[in-house]
Amino acid sequence: MIPGEFTYHRPSSVAEAIAILVSHGDEARPLSGGHSLIPMMKLRMAAPEHLVDLGGIADLKGISEDGGTVTIGAMTTQHELIASDVLAAKLPIIRETSLLIADPQIRYVGTLGGNVANGDPGNDMPALMQCLNARYVLSGPDGAREVAARDFYEAAYFTALAPEEILTAVKIPVPPEGHGYAYEKLKRKVGDYATAAAAVVLTMSAGTVGSCSVALTNVADTPLHAEEAGAILTGSALDPDTVKRAVAAAEAITEPASDGRGPAEYRTKMAGIMLERALVRAAERAQG
Ligand code: FAD
Repeated sequence: MIPGEFTYHRPSSVAEAIAILVSHGDEARPLSGGHSLIPMMKLRMAAPEHLVDLGGIADLKGISEDGGTVTIGAMTTQHELIASDVLAAKLPIIRETSLLIADPQIRYVGTLGGNVANGDPGNDMPALMQCLNARYVLSGPDGAREVAARDFYEAAYFTALAPEEILTAVKIPVPPEGHGYAYEKLKRKVGDYATAAAAVVLTMSAGTVGSCSVALTNVADTPLHAEEAGAILTGSALDPDTVKRAVAAAEAITEPASDGRGPAEYRTKMAGIMLERALVRAAERAQG
C-alpha cells in the first residue's frame, strides 16, 4: 500500500521540531526510525500530513552515565544499544532485550525513543523500562518534564505524551553491581513480536532476594509492571512455593487478546512461564 501525501520536515534542533509540531497540531507526527510509523501509514492506519524527521538533531543521540544514572538519547538505535560498552557494563539486560527485537536490518534504524513512545503493547522496550524504573524526558513548548515509564502508558497507542511533545531521552537508574537480570521472550519465529515476555532484575544476598522488579510485554493493552510479583519474591530464597505465588500474581494482572499468537489463556500461561524462566536465569547471574 502507498501512504497518503505528507510534507516532510527535517529540523536540526529540538526547539525547531517542537515549533513545527505546535504549528501543525494533530496533523504532525515525529518520525524516528520509521519502522512502526511507516508501516502504519502504508496501511492507512495513520495519515499524518506533516512528518517531522528527528534524524537531523544531534542532541537526541548518545549514551552517557553520570551519578548512577544512564541517559540514552531518544534517537539511539537498537543496534547502538547492543554495541554500547556502557550498557554492557551497567545495564546488560538492555543488550539482551535489544537482540530479541525484530532482525538486524530493523535494529539498525529502529530507535529507543520510537520504541517506547509508540505505545504498541507488542514493543519490548516499554516493559523493560518499567522493570528498570526508567524515566522519560518529554520536551514541549513549555519546557521539559519527566514521566516514569510505569506511569506513561494509558492504553494501546495512548500515552502521557502530548501531541506537541517530543521524547528526547530515557533516564535509567543503574542497578547495583552484581545484580541478576533476564529478559525471556516467546515468539513464533525470528523477527516476531512477543506472544508473551517477562523482564526481571533482582539482587541477592546469601541466597535471599534483596530486591526484585518484574514487568511483562504484550499480555495487555499496555506493558505491565508486576509490582505484587516483585514484592512476593523480595525476601524469599526463590523457593518453589514463593515462585508459584509470584507467577500467579503476575498472571492475574494480564489481559491479553486472543489473536494469531494464541488464545488469551495460553498467552497468560506463557507470561507465567517466561517469568519462571527469567527468574532462574536472573538468579544464576546474580552475585551475592
Ligand atoms: P517510528 O516508527 O519512527 O515512530 C513510532 C511512533 O512513535 C510514531 O507514532 C512516532 O510519531 C512516535 N515517535 C517516534 N519517536 C518519537 C519521539 N522521540 N518522541 C515522540 N514520539 C516519537 N519492536 C519490538 O519492540 N519488538 C519486536 O519484536 C519488533 N519486531 C518488529 C518486526 C518488524 C517486521 C518491524 C517492521 C518492526 C518491529 N518492531 C519491533 C518495531 C521496531 O522496533 C520499531 O523500530 C520501533 O518500535 C519504533 O521505533 P522507530 O524508531 O522505528 O519509530
